[in-house]
Amino acid sequence: MTTHRATCQCGALTATFEDDPDFVIACNCIACQKRTGAPFGTGAYFRKSRMTVTGAANTWARTADTGRALENFFCPTCATTLYWTLEMRPDYIGVAYGSFDTKLPHPVRAIWTEAQHDWVSFPQDWPTFPKGTPEPT
Ligand SMILES: [Zn+2]
Ligand SMILES: [Zn+2]
Repeated sequence: MTTHRATCQCGALTATFEDDPDFVIACNCIACQKRTGAPFGTGAYFRKSRMTVTGAANTWARTADTGRALENFFCPTCATTLYWTLEMRPDYIGVAYGSFDTKLPHPVRAIWTEAQHDWVSFPQDWPTFPKGTPEPT
């Protein structure tokens, strides 16, 4: 069993999981680009019940491109968004892939490829979707 720990930039906010994520998704949507400042965002999805959090988090909610609610949790000190909840997957927590100190499995799909930068490419064997994932997995 691998313990995975995600931390914000300053280290005050952490999220720990006792096992691998159930799935990992690379998302090219504009909101993920804004959140990360990167050309795409990558989220590791774990069951909420498996998460242990230390430190305080502020929240900011928005409506996702799917029309469903999404709430971001970020460190009040360094402002790193560490994790988020999705109305679409109420049992899951999405965690920023780059915030982990440990190696995680690679994404299983790339979504919102209609907003993908033309210099970004994903492995041929990854399913890609022009918009969001058709259904929760
Ligand atoms: Zn911080
Ligand atoms: Zn996105």
